[in-house]
Amino acid sequence: MIKGSSEESESVRLPEKMDQKVTEEKRVEATRVVKAPRRSSVKPSKKEKEEENMDEGEMVFVMPGDIIATTEEFSPGVGTFLHVADIHAASTGVVKINKKSRIISVVPSTKYPPSIAVGNIVIGAIIGLRESVALVEIAAIKGEGEREFKKVGTAAVHVSNVKDSYCKRLDEEFAVGDIIKAKVLNTENMRLSTAEKELGVMKAQCSNCRAVMVKDDNKLKCPECGRVERRKLSSDYGTGIV
Ligand code: ZN
Repeated sequence: MIKGSSEESESVRLPEKMDQKVTEEKRVEATRVVKAPRRSSVKPSKKEKEEENMDEGEMVFVMPGDIIATTEEFSPGVGTFLHVADIHAASTGVVKINKKSRIISVVPSTKYPPSIAVGNIVIGAIIGLRESVALVEIAAIKGEGEREFKKVGTAAVHVSNVKDSYCKRLDEEFAVGDIIKAKVLNTENMRLSTAEKELGVMKAQCSNCRAVMVKDDNKLKCPECGRVERRKLSSDYGTGIV
């Protein structure tokens, strides 16, 4: 990713505990830590590497608001915005760095990766609730180390595919902003299912105070304000396991 800079002496912002001069490798590692806590990484294909002009680096998948760099390192490009000295991602997508101009941009995710297949387990965020479907923005496909993709788009969980038992109301199972794990039922209109035990909400925020909710029996409880909410929970809720 940020590796291969021609300005070896340039310093990057490090986490507090790593506040010292480090080697090139350590620098890259530290940068990775600082940058985008909510993304994971993916090894680009050979073709993608050529297209993106990235060496051994990883593709960095980011979500809106993620800090992707500081102005000491790069200049903000397309798909980014500046706040104080930090460059943030303005959209969901993949970080692209032009090494010559040192401009960092975010290439938005707009299409489905061709490799999404029926039966794949995907990770995504609930971006909307309709009467009969929950809209999901797919962020990653499980497998080969949680690969993430350049191109993602809106998928949907139909009310009949939320859980094994009857689902009366979608808003009792999901909330906008929830991170879910789901299985791909078909790729024509990207229908997903969360009916299995491991599938469902992986992470949710309190609708009252936005704190991350913790699992309490089969419900969620807010550690800050005590609010209790219902979700179609994944058995892996809160574990970080995908
Ligand atoms: Zn709360």
